[in-house]
Amino acid sequence: MQYCTRCVYPSISAVPLGFDENGVCTGCRAHDQKKTIDWAERAEWIKEIADEYRVTDGSNYDCIIPVSGGKDSWYQTWYAKEVLGLNPLLVTYNSNNYLQVGLRNLKRMREVFGVDHHFFTPSPQTLIKLNRLCFKKMGDMNWHAHCGIFTYPVQVAVKYRIPLIIWGEHGYTDLGGMFSMNDLIEMTAKFRLEHAQRGYDWFDMLDREEGEEEGLQARDLLWARYPSDDELEEIEVRGIYLGNFVNWDGNEQTELMKKFGFEESPVPFDRTYRRVSNLDDMHENGIHDYLKFVKFGYGRASDHACKDIRSGKMTREEGVEMVRKYDHVKPRDLLRWLQYVGMSEAEFDAIADTFRDSRVWQKNSSGEWTKENIWGTPSAYPVPSLTESNIEWSEFQKQAVPQ
Ligand SMILES: [Zn+2]
Repeated sequence: MQYCTRCVYPSISAVPLGFDENGVCTGCRAHDQKKTIDWAERAEWIKEIADEYRVTDGSNYDCIIPVSGGKDSWYQTWYAKEVLGLNPLLVTYNSNNYLQVGLRNLKRMREVFGVDHHFFTPSPQTLIKLNRLCFKKMGDMNWHAHCGIFTYPVQVAVKYRIPLIIWGEHGYTDLGGMFSMNDLIEMTAKFRLEHAQRGYDWFDMLDREEGEEEGLQARDLLWARYPSDDELEEIEVRGIYLGNFVNWDGNEQTELMKKFGFEESPVPFDRTYRRVSNLDDMHENGIHDYLKFVKFGYGRASDHACKDIRSGKMTREEGVEMVRKYDHVKPRDLLRWLQYVGMSEAEFDAIADTFRDSRVWQKNSSGEWTKENIWGTPSAYPVPSLTESNIEWSEFQKQAVPQ
């Protein structure tokens, strides 16, 4: 196991990552590259793209912006509307897990910027089945959200005949340096399937594996079908990333959006120190992220620390402290999720254990899971039981939207 000498990323990571001769990761190198880019020139490039797609006779929207109502959504909408002068249609895939503050932000965003908004929710029964099935199949209960976010807005683009989709940052380039900032990468069906959806498509959710029968049928997953090549080519759908054209700084952008009314979480999260990310889905910062720790031995506090170290907001030592404090925490939203899907915590722990990466995790003589740590000494991580402990569950529940 190797850790980046500049940020806190481990070599066994959920994002593809490499290290140079100085032990610096490709994510840090991609960040360095941003300092050499002529951003004024790139701002001109996106203006040219906007002009190409602008509908001058008022007969349709100029573009689609996939939004969750988070800080990035606010920034994308502000940029498209106020900087580029576009008339966007916002599209939301709702994963049924909003925090109250997240829904407030979503509603306020369309009021502040005066934009039309299309809000789509699959049936809760289907979502419950997909949560349970995908947890067992790939150790990720939120597969449906990754699929919905990268599929449904593209369906809307085809149906409404709006070719331009403006995404936010390319997360894999930002975090792990998967592509060069000079590649000007655009959204593809390949990215959707192989990365966002872990190689699984909607038809893999029909009863295929023994012990995973949920009775899902094709008609339950209409929203999860990516348009065909013919449909995409007919109107020449194109998905660009705003992160290729502006010098993306999540912290600065959040401060700007707060001036327009964006609200951070009023209470801290269990697994990270940031209060401004993933407010649309209580399990993204919680149990979904805990599963990353179970698999790879790190979590969102590492992701956030990497971003903050690279942008100069935090030292590496402070980042390591965040990793030590947050990455291993079993979050309280697990209790809501277990109720939601009808599973016991013991069953959850047993299934989660089958996804532990053997390059990261070993069992000690007491039967506890152990792993290397960024601060040098390995340690054991016994798995606590939330249902047997006296946790502050009621305080957490108040933050969630009543289901
Ligand atoms: Zn790094």
